Amino acid sequence: MKAPLPSRRKFLFQAAVAAAALPIAMRLIPDARAAGLTKLPLDNPQAKALGYVDDASTSKLPSYKPGSTCSNCQFFTAATGACALFAGFSVSSKGWCSAWAKKPA
Ligand code: SF4
Repeated sequence: MKAPLPSRRKFLFQAAVAAAALPIAMRLIPDARAAGLTKLPLDNPQAKALGYVDDASTSKLPSYKPGSTCSNCQFFTAATGACALFAGFSVSSKGWCSAWAKKPA
């Protein structure tokens, strides 16, 4: 026994629902551009004060511990690249600064 084919009316209704939902879904998916964030410049005074680097492995600070990066810091938001300490900027997921604090498991 064959399953009945969807009617044209049903197909058009589903297409209309999908088309209406798409802009809403796009608004719910955050990214750095949508959040209006710009990459944190290394010469930002606060970044310099905290010893921020785009690549954690290049940090020269004695407080740096291998394996600690922005991606596993509690102040980092992976969806946008935002850091709670640097409003309006995004940081590298591979970056690090001396304010690093382990993200709770
Ligand atoms: Fe990266 Fe955490 Fe420093 Fe922000 S506070 S720059 S997320 S290490």
